[in-house]
This record gives sequence, C-alpha cells and structure tokens, in this order.
Amino acid sequence: MQRTYTSKVGKGKFLVKGWVAKVRDLGNLKFFMLRDREGTLQVTAKKGVVSDGIIKEVSHLGREDCVAVTGKIVSSKQAPGGRELIPDKIEVIARAQTPLPIDFEGKIESGFDKRFDYRFLDVRNHKVQAIFRVMDRTLKHMRESFERNGFIEINTPVIQAAGAEGGSTMFPIIYYNREAFLRQSPQLYKQIMMASGLDRVYEIGPAFRAEKFHTTRHVSEFLSMDFEMAWIDSEEDVMKVLERLVVDTLKGVKKSCKRELELFQAKLKIPEIPFRRIEYEKAIKMVNKVGAKLKFGDDFMDVEEKKLGEILAKRGIEWYFVTKFPSQIKPFYIMMDGKYSRGLDLAFKGLEIASGGQREHRYGVLVKVMKAKGLDPHQFKFYLDAFRYGQIPHGGIGYGMERMVQKILGLDNIKEAILFPRTPEKLVP
Ligand code: ATP
Repeated sequence: MQRTYTSKVGKGKFLVKGWVAKVRDLGNLKFFMLRDREGTLQVTAKKGVVSDGIIKEVSHLGREDCVAVTGKIVSSKQAPGGRELIPDKIEVIARAQTPLPIDFEGKIESGFDKRFDYRFLDVRNHKVQAIFRVMDRTLKHMRESFERNGFIEINTPVIQAAGAEGGSTMFPIIYYNREAFLRQSPQLYKQIMMASGLDRVYEIGPAFRAEKFHTTRHVSEFLSMDFEMAWIDSEEDVMKVLERLVVDTLKGVKKSCKRELELFQAKLKIPEIPFRRIEYEKAIKMVNKVGAKLKFGDDFMDVEEKKLGEILAKRGIEWYFVTKFPSQIKPFYIMMDGKYSRGLDLAFKGLEIASGGQREHRYGVLVKVMKAKGLDPHQFKFYLDAFRYGQIPHGGIGYGMERMVQKILGLDNIKEAILFPRTPEKLVP
C-alpha cells in the first residue's frame, strides 16, 4: 500500500507514516497523534476493537518514535479534524531516545542556540516548517516573475579573487596555495555578463559577509537574489522591474501560502505600483523631524531605517524606495552624478531589503572612481576588461531573501528564516 499524507486521508483504508506526537493511555483506550509533513492524525486503539497485539504496540510507543500505521479512517466527534485512524498494523521504524533535547512543540521555549543545535527536531514543528515553505514559494514566484520579464538565470563563482563590497566584510579562504574570498555578492560577475549580450540576468545564491555586529537583520551567510539588466536609461528602469517583481511575488505567496500566513497571523498587503520614491535628503529631513541627527553623507543606521519605516507606516506605506544617495556612501560601481549617486534602496516596513541602482559603465570614469575610493584597478582587471570592448548602460540590485521572509511573517530575528544560520558564534551545525 502507498503512503498517504495525513491531510489527504479520506474514507477507507490508508497507510500513514510519521512521528508519534503525543501518546495518551486511558487503560482500555489508548491513542496517539501521528505527525507528518502535512498535518496530524489521531490513531485510536480501543480494547475489543483492535487486536491485543496492537494495544501492546501502542502502549510501548514513545514521543517521536517513527511509525508506519495501516488502518481504517472513521469519523469521530472527539478527534481533532473529526476523523481518526483505527489501526490494524503498526510498524515501528525507529525509536526516539528520551528525553528529547528540546521541546519543539513549544511548551517549554528553547533558546535560539539549542533550537539550531537540534534544527531537525525544531523543524518538526509545523509553524517553524511554515517559514521554509514560505521561502520555497517566494523563490518560486520570483523565478516565475523573472521568466515573464525576460530574465535568464545564471550562476557565477562563490570563490572569488577580489571582493566588490570592500575589505572589512570579506571572508578569506585558502585556495590551493593562495588567498581567495567567499563572495560578498555576485556584483562584479553579473556586471561582466552585461557585456556578453545576455541583457537580463538574475542569480539566486549564497553571499557571505564577515559582519562584526550583532543585529536581528544580519548574518554571516545569506541568500542573495541579484539581477542585472542592460540598455537602461536610468535607475528608474531598475525600480520599475523591481517593484513588479515584488508585487508578483507577494501576490503569489498570498495565494499559495494561505495556511502558513495564517499560522503567523501575517496580513500580507499587496502594494500599489509605483512604490513611493523618497530622495535621500527628504528621508533625512523626515527622520530628523522625529529626533534623528543625520546630515548629508551619513548612512541610515538601524534606528533611522526603523524611524522612516514608522513614519511611512502611518501613511499606509510599507514598501518604498530611497533614491539619490550621496556619492560618497555608495560603492565604486554605482553611477555618480557629482554629489548624488544613482543608487537606490528598497525597504519593507523599515528594513532595507534590496540595494542597487544604475552602474557606471564608462571605462575611464569607472577607473577614476575606483582610484578615488582607494582601490587598485589592476586587481580588478578581469572586471574592467568587460568595460573596454563595448559595455552598455546597465543597472540592477542585490536582494536579501531572508529579510524578505522575515518581514512577510513578522519574525523578530532573521536567523529564524535560515535553517542553519551562520553568525560570528555559530558555525556548527
Ligand atoms: P545593511 O546596510 O543593512 O548592512 P548592506 O547595505 O550592507 O545592508 P548590500 O551590500 O547592499 O547590503 O546587500 C544587498 C542586500 O543584501 C541588503 O539589502 C540585504 O537585504 C541583504 N544583506 C546584506 N548583508 C546582509 C547580511 N549580513 N545578512 C543578511 N542579509 C544581508
């Protein structure tokens, strides 16, 4: 007989497989909850109704034993979901040791560290599992949107010789007999691909930052979604694609993750296009009015980002762009118009989700900016070469996938949206 998920059983005989979630022994009546990926099902063994062998088997079951149960589904007023399984065969596939190292059903809250040490148990909790289903669907709907908009998915190296985002957050590794780095982003490679004629590319893959500080929105390894598009007139073209991508994705998630969103009581609002665009100087004025002390050239820190989010939330705005950042705080590859850059950030409820803009595609200007920012162009020859033989105007963004899921579900900490988070303290498991 083929296995059926607990959510799919109807009337008749079925084989279900899963973990023993709860055992109750009322003497002549014994029952347990069987949990699988899709839900739970009560298995009821009543003396006189099932064989003595089954009764004995059930009385030996312990929490998280792994079982395969065959039996008949019958309606039941008392059982959760209004149905229960009357077993005629119980096979114990594996026993679970006791006591369990964490109580993942949430009666006793376990700290982050312990939960991540035993993540395989933690994810048996359906609410925790829901986070990764939302991530799965988010990625799926994004890919669909990219496909509709003519993007090609690419993969570029994670092991790199030079970093794009500056030295302090690079992870050095030993690459045979020389030093290399884990990528901070696919920035340089996706820009190189703009000179290849592929026109519109995206990549979804890990990015690494040796971040020193501890916040609820930073980790050392995150899933970065990056796109780059050619033949643009300005950063406005990038924003248009990005806001469409966000709306497509949210619409998809809202439809395909109803159950998961409900578990988190997450009300997902679909923003209207165009998203609000707020120039950096205006954003500074807005947050300074409520106590911040930013001046031109300062970067938005956590508190100011949140403040701006709160101000806009009062106006019913959850998603917005901040544009026209000062050139001095943007990386060398962003196009500068004197004092202002063509860089942009996309924020969702006061958290930066993506960052990008129009890139500098003119070889001579790029080299000059690199030097002015203290970089040695010789180290970037492989990148600069792409700008010497017909590079076209282009732009794109880098987008943090876990931050997106964090905000969709209202998770306090980004780590919850990562199966095995990497932080300065956490390398195992
Ligand atoms: P922040 O200012 O919040 O530290 P950043 O400006 O360093 O972010 P970018 O280098 O522009 O970020 O990266 C693009 C996107 O990648 C960010 O908007 C964010 O969503 C995500 N991201 C960057 N660093 C991290 C990190 N350490 N952990 C999780 N996500 C990150």
